[in-house]
Amino acid sequence: MLERLEHISPKTKILFVATLFILLPSAILSYLGLRSVHERAENLRTNYTGTINLIRDKIEHEVLRLEDNLRLVLRETPAEPQTKQDLINWFSRIKSNTQGITHPFLANLSEGLISTSVASGWWKPRKSLELDRLYHSAEFQTAEVSEFVERDFARAIERYKIALLNSSFAIQKAALLSRIGRCYFKLGKYTEGIAEYKKILLLPDQKDNHATLPHSIAALSQISEGYSSMKMEKEKATALLRLYERLIDDPWDLAGGDFTFYLNSVRNDLEDYVRSHSSDTTASRTFLELQKRESFLDEEIGFIELVRQNILPQIQMARWRGSLSEMQPRYSSERFHDSAVQIGYLMLPSSFRQSHIVSFGFEIDKQYLIVDLLPRILSTIDLGKDVVVGIVDEKAEIQYPRDRSGIWDHLVAENFSQIFPSWKVALFHREGKTIDALVEKDKQIYLGLFVGIMLVMLVGMVITVRAASHELEVSRMKAEFVSNVTHELKTPLALIRMFGETLETGLVTDEAKRHEFYQIIRKESERLTHLINNVLDFSKMDAGIKEYTFEEADLAEVVRSTLEAYKFHIREVGFEMVSEIPAEPMIATVDKDAISQAILNLLSNATKYSKDEKYIGVVLRKNSTDVILSVEDRGVGIPKEELPKIFEKFYRVGTAKTRETRGSGLGLALVKHIVKAHGGEVEISSEVGRGSTFTITIPLEQEGRGR
Ligand code: ADP
Repeated sequence: MLERLEHISPKTKILFVATLFILLPSAILSYLGLRSVHERAENLRTNYTGTINLIRDKIEHEVLRLEDNLRLVLRETPAEPQTKQDLINWFSRIKSNTQGITHPFLANLSEGLISTSVASGWWKPRKSLELDRLYHSAEFQTAEVSEFVERDFARAIERYKIALLNSSFAIQKAALLSRIGRCYFKLGKYTEGIAEYKKILLLPDQKDNHATLPHSIAALSQISEGYSSMKMEKEKATALLRLYERLIDDPWDLAGGDFTFYLNSVRNDLEDYVRSHSSDTTASRTFLELQKRESFLDEEIGFIELVRQNILPQIQMARWRGSLSEMQPRYSSERFHDSAVQIGYLMLPSSFRQSHIVSFGFEIDKQYLIVDLLPRILSTIDLGKDVVVGIVDEKAEIQYPRDRSGIWDHLVAENFSQIFPSWKVALFHREGKTIDALVEKDKQIYLGLFVGIMLVMLVGMVITVRAASHELEVSRMKAEFVSNVTHELKTPLALIRMFGETLETGLVTDEAKRHEFYQIIRKESERLTHLINNVLDFSKMDAGIKEYTFEEADLAEVVRSTLEAYKFHIREVGFEMVSEIPAEPMIATVDKDAISQAILNLLSNATKYSKDEKYIGVVLRKNSTDVILSVEDRGVGIPKEELPKIFEKFYRVGTAKTRETRGSGLGLALVKHIVKAHGGEVEISSEVGRGSTFTITIPLEQEGRGR
């Protein structure tokens, strides 16, 4: 495995290692982190669901207890409420013995409904035998003939009065009195008419027929008409107020529609009167009080109307299907006066059915639920400070708690199982957050951490890869350097040996030839020395132990003598050298040998990296602070992108010319080190194919440098 890995580049290996040992574990860690967030959310959900189930069960348990109590009370209450008074008593017994319910109502076999104050279709209009007998009597019929056929109203009054003398029942008397009153009105004798109607008011109203118009109502209505005809507004208003009070006090069955008709028209008449008779403060005060009482009645009427339209069909349907069990409430969510209500209904035991009563219904008292029941249940459960329990209706509107209205996001919500259909009990966060929102922060932290780790690792990887590439490059250059230096050493040594051996044989007799051989041996050993000096100097510099011997010297002289020593070699390799060195001395504190070595390196490079135009220009100048030496050639030049690197150790530009030229890659590194040691700078300007100019700047005053 490792052997195979050797063929893979180090960069790939680093990437592989980074992925395998860092990226993979951190990806796994992040995944685990995110999973733990998910698990936390699930745990929260489970916990909250547990709590909400507990609360719901407790609420339902409480409601079931209410139902138990209700059943008990219903069983104990006599099952024969027949007359109106019976019913009133029955309801008041229920009301005082039960808790948590309002608007109790009963439904009977003929789909009639009755509540504490309103009935609808509960009583069927029954024919009155007494009235029948009266209408068929001879006196009565002749009186009717006078009234309607002969239109002799005075006569009719007389005849009706005779009939009155013979009648003994209140209902008969009321019928006759109202006819007498009517005939007086027809004669224009309103006072007399009103007096007759007033007699009706003294009679008791019919007790057994709540479906029909009570005669007191008809009488009061006629009295107000009579006063109206006599333009006796005040008296009319008094009659209307009595009528209004009578209607509110004792509403008769709504089913016929008469009741609401009377109520509305009386109210309208009174409104008109109060508006046009603002001085009659007594009347308007009484009217206002009665109106207040009417609003309670209105509520009851509205409720019974809702039950008639929405609940009664459900009861009918359940009875028809046989799915409504005795004394077992069912619930229906309804809207009453634009607010959500729960209406319960149950089938009464058969004992009630003798009175044709089949079911009992009620509204769950929201006030009781909210103010009593829920706070009592919730006080036994520790919810922590961030969580609130709420009841949500079918429109997702909050019914409880009261200080939260509208629609909120909940943590969890559960349906009630049987009571309160389509309502839910829910847990809310105090700030309306959902579970997902609660764990969102953790999620973000994990993701942030993951991204952070990734970034740090990415940066680390880039740095490592770059460092590794650099190391690789250096080791490559070192290997090249060794082969270059070996080669550089071998050539002069071979030449020295060859010419030395030739001279040793004594066969070369020609003095000129011998001289030439000596020269070669000298030059080659000089090159060797130069090379070895470079290598030794470099190793010292690299190890940081290179020492310079500074002394005050004339730099112009140093340059001049270095050029002088190298001039011969330059000419020999066919170069033209133009130098410009001022005669005046340029005194600076320098290491003469080191400076001379730097110049030699520049000159040597100029000869090495020139092809066709063999030219070297050396210029020495000075300004107020520095001595400036430039060495110019017209050689191959250096590509722009290579310029920053050529001063690095072992670095050699990868052009063809460099490759065919021997070199160690140390020359310019040495030049730079030497110049820096003198507190100066070395710069280069070069153009490929046109040549290069190296410029060394050495300060005249060299501060901060040891001597
Ligand atoms: P070397 O021993 O290779 O000459 P140096 O450090 O002296 O090492 O130079 C580094 C590289 O810079 C050389 O390999 C060469 O490619 C480039 N170089 C230096 N001087 C010149 C020059 N005068 N003209 C063109 N290229 C040069």
